[in-house]
Amino acid sequence: MTIAKNLAEIGSGLPQETTLIAVSKRHPIESIQQAYDAGHRHFGENLVQELCAKQPQLPSDIKWHAIGHLQTNKVKYIAPFVHLIHGVDSLKLLKEIDKRGRQNDRVISCLLQVKISEEETKFGLSATDVKELVEDEVLVSFNHVKILGLMGMASNTDDDQHIRTEFTRLMELFKEIKSQSTHSNVSMQHLSMGMSGDYSLAIECGSNMIRVGSAIFGSRPST
Ligand SMILES: *Cc1c(COP(=O)(O)O)cnc(C)c1O
Repeated sequence: MTIAKNLAEIGSGLPQETTLIAVSKRHPIESIQQAYDAGHRHFGENLVQELCAKQPQLPSDIKWHAIGHLQTNKVKYIAPFVHLIHGVDSLKLLKEIDKRGRQNDRVISCLLQVKISEEETKFGLSATDVKELVEDEVLVSFNHVKILGLMGMASNTDDDQHIRTEFTRLMELFKEIKSQSTHSNVSMQHLSMGMSGDYSLAIECGSNMIRVGSAIFGSRPST
């Protein structure tokens, strides 16, 4: 019951065009089913193994988002069903996704992960790398991937101004690429930024896709 209530409350405060991804990592199938029964369809997981274990046990119309760091050798496991891959941070990974997309006869949607925080542990491309990647000639031959936007994670801090600066930088990069990219498989539609602690700020800074876990499902079991 609380899950449905949390979803309704968060959802009612969002602009119409926002996609709310319920991040269900480390939460059981039953919790996901509750959210599904309340009408929710977008779910996010950060581990391939967990995603692949849950997917066959749940309704097939769920849109699964792979939101974590993705290793090249794991792409094949999610390629048959994944809705959107958020963590693409190299051409090598994009090439592998294209290959697996071809094998599965589908076009796999991806976001490029941009490093916007100064924290050492966060994955992602620099702004310069992103601009180079979306202009790379090799993209022309990638017929089984589409780059549909950017994803970023702000620093883990209470300093709203700091977070705002990082989100704003990502939004500006998004707009710049949107106005300049020429490849047919690059189309800036989704700006994935904002989690439980900072999604309101992210929305103010132009996000249209938020990834919210604990504010929906409660705190995660530490395992
Ligand atoms: C876990 C996770 C989230 C959700 O975090 P909450 O703080 O629980 O909302 C969002 N994005 C990524 C990439 C995550 O790994």
